[in-house]
Amino acid sequence: MPEGHSVHRIAAQFRRHYLGKRVAVSSPQGRFGDCVLLDGHAVTDAYAVGKHLFVTFDSGDVLHVHLGIYGAWDFAGAVELDDTASSAGGRMGQTNGHGTVVGAHEDSLASIGAPRRTRLRMGESEQAGVSPVVFPPAPIGQVRVRILADDVVADLRGPTVCEVLAPSGVARVRGVLGPDPLVDKKGEDRFVERCRATATPIGRALMNQRIVAGIGNVYRAEMLFRAALSPFAATKTLPEETLRELWRDWVKLLAIGVKTGQMMTMDGLTAGQKRAALANRDDRHWVYRRAGEPCRVCATPIVMEMMEARKLYFCPQCQGVSG
Ligand SMILES: [Zn+2]
Repeated sequence: MPEGHSVHRIAAQFRRHYLGKRVAVSSPQGRFGDCVLLDGHAVTDAYAVGKHLFVTFDSGDVLHVHLGIYGAWDFAGAVELDDTASSAGGRMGQTNGHGTVVGAHEDSLASIGAPRRTRLRMGESEQAGVSPVVFPPAPIGQVRVRILADDVVADLRGPTVCEVLAPSGVARVRGVLGPDPLVDKKGEDRFVERCRATATPIGRALMNQRIVAGIGNVYRAEMLFRAALSPFAATKTLPEETLRELWRDWVKLLAIGVKTGQMMTMDGLTAGQKRAALANRDDRHWVYRRAGEPCRVCATPIVMEMMEARKLYFCPQCQGVSG
């Protein structure tokens, strides 16, 4: 499932390509009848709160999208790849398992920042593809919503939530979400307050979007390792300073994720290690998806256990989990 950094990057794509533009909004698949409310209006803003995307229109209506596990946006047309997406175009496709359109960007370093005809898929991972021959390209598969401007098109497939909200509806959604560092200036205090009020283990609390918005399975595991914290520690018994350090680490990791498009959670890498980590997620994490492999710090085998139906990874030694 895409974690918060991905949704912030998608919001940035919308701001980059759609601000102020009047758009045609349709539902090629036919399952999103409310698209008519947005059709013909101009996009005024796009932003993310945790894993939720909000695109606002000059009518006052707001498109609210949650990608869930399978959702993804495909941008095509005069799409501006940022330096990370364009330089990593081929490699990202090779590592995400569903790469069919990769490796077309040998010239990418020459074209950083220049909008050009291309495709970019943004979901759990990002994948640059070959440019459509005709614009706009015909919708492929089950496109829930298509947002078409004069030179760019965005197709959404497989979301968990895709709805039109009035501003009051946005307030309601945001009201139940925990803080997101990129949105909430006082997020740290709210995070600590909400942690103090929960009886659940910290491994669950970090995944609870009402306590902190945007953290998913990868960041949860990695943050707990970085903090040398047991995932099973009762959240409300943790010292306040520990909670504050966790928040600050999330602020730092989220910023790296938004910048690079990758969940880079290891510090102090050499240039070569960093290249390897950007190219391959097996080289990118301390514990995530490393069950049975030796801990990078103490060589104890990493453990995987199910917690609320999600795989939880940790080092029993470094994180003080007694067996
Ligand atoms: Zn260890």
